[in-house]
Amino acid sequence: MTDGPSPPSVPFLDLKAQQRRIEADLRRRLDAVLAHCQFILGPEVAELEQALASFCGARHCVAVSSGTDALQIALMAEGIGQGDAVFLPAFTYTATSEVPLLLGACPVFVDVDRRTFQMDLSHLEARIHDVRRAGRLRPRAVIGVDLFGQLANWPDLRAIAAREGLFALDDCAQSFGATLHGRRLGAAADATAISFFPSKPLGAYGDGGALCTDGEERAALYRSLRTHGEGSTRYEVLRTGMNGRLDSIQAAVLLAKLAVFEQELAARERVARYYDSRLGDAVAIPARVPDSTSAWAIYAVLLRDRAERDRLQAGLRQRGVPTAIYYPLPLHVQPAYREHHDGTRLPVSEDLATRILALPIHPDLTEASMAQVCDSVLALVS
Ligand SMILES: *Cc1c(COP(=O)(O)O)cnc(C)c1O
Repeated sequence: MTDGPSPPSVPFLDLKAQQRRIEADLRRRLDAVLAHCQFILGPEVAELEQALASFCGARHCVAVSSGTDALQIALMAEGIGQGDAVFLPAFTYTATSEVPLLLGACPVFVDVDRRTFQMDLSHLEARIHDVRRAGRLRPRAVIGVDLFGQLANWPDLRAIAAREGLFALDDCAQSFGATLHGRRLGAAADATAISFFPSKPLGAYGDGGALCTDGEERAALYRSLRTHGEGSTRYEVLRTGMNGRLDSIQAAVLLAKLAVFEQELAARERVARYYDSRLGDAVAIPARVPDSTSAWAIYAVLLRDRAERDRLQAGLRQRGVPTAIYYPLPLHVQPAYREHHDGTRLPVSEDLATRILALPIHPDLTEASMAQVCDSVLALVS
């Protein structure tokens, strides 16, 4: 590096810049909540459910308290618990695996594809076969994770689930807004779980989530389960549920953000294309799923090995470029989960964890920041 002032820090996320863009609409909507004081499941929540369903083309949308609670409610509605196997990729966020365990079911970890990072469907079939042969667990559900903003292979995944009699749950926490063959994720599986954690592509100002489904009975069950299993009146309790409600302030924030979401997805795509074009010869850039668009929650590149990845991360930090490692450990080797794993090696997940690095991507990344990221990577990787 030449002498001179150190470069400004690139923001990994820039929620303040986004807030400036939506401020007028945001304040108007928040003021409305302060005026009516229906803070939980108020009118904004119903408006948001309608807006999300029409945005993604699902028949029903039920807003809930977080992405994790969305996954939990979806599995509770199927009666999944003790003795049930729930198949899921090992290379994902912990919540995907935590939820089956909370319900007494057993996660069965599946490896991922080395190019797309999404669940490897031939390995899924092998794992289902293994579980049936061992006879200890009943295969009940598969959670397909749309990792990093891209999609799992839903057409094939759904066909496997149908053939095997499994409930297909889409963990779309990172990828709401992504499309396949021109259709948004939201109706690709039996149910789709979305997260509105602030750093997700569509983020609230606190925790929030939603479930989308085309099934009318499922949607009704989700509504009951999110409010303590209530029946037709508040004090009729039909089943064991939970407190999974969304609050009106989060819904107000999400409505303001949904109004600019398509523009933001396009802005994220521009960043991804710029990175692709400048970095493609130096590092392994993310593979695209054919005829799809990504929500670009994360733009992750692969280095040759751990040493090169760690050197690059340290060098980028010095040049004002923050990065993150998703995920430093696959779930089957996590202390909390390894006792639930049958010991099968998942070589791709294990390898990705040592070589992957996420670069800053968000809709307010400036041209100067994008150039700073790429100049720095190119200077550090030979
Ligand atoms: C963020 C995330 C979740 C959990 O969402 P929360 O809203 O934080 O509960 C679940 N699965 C994946 C893949 C995630 O990235």
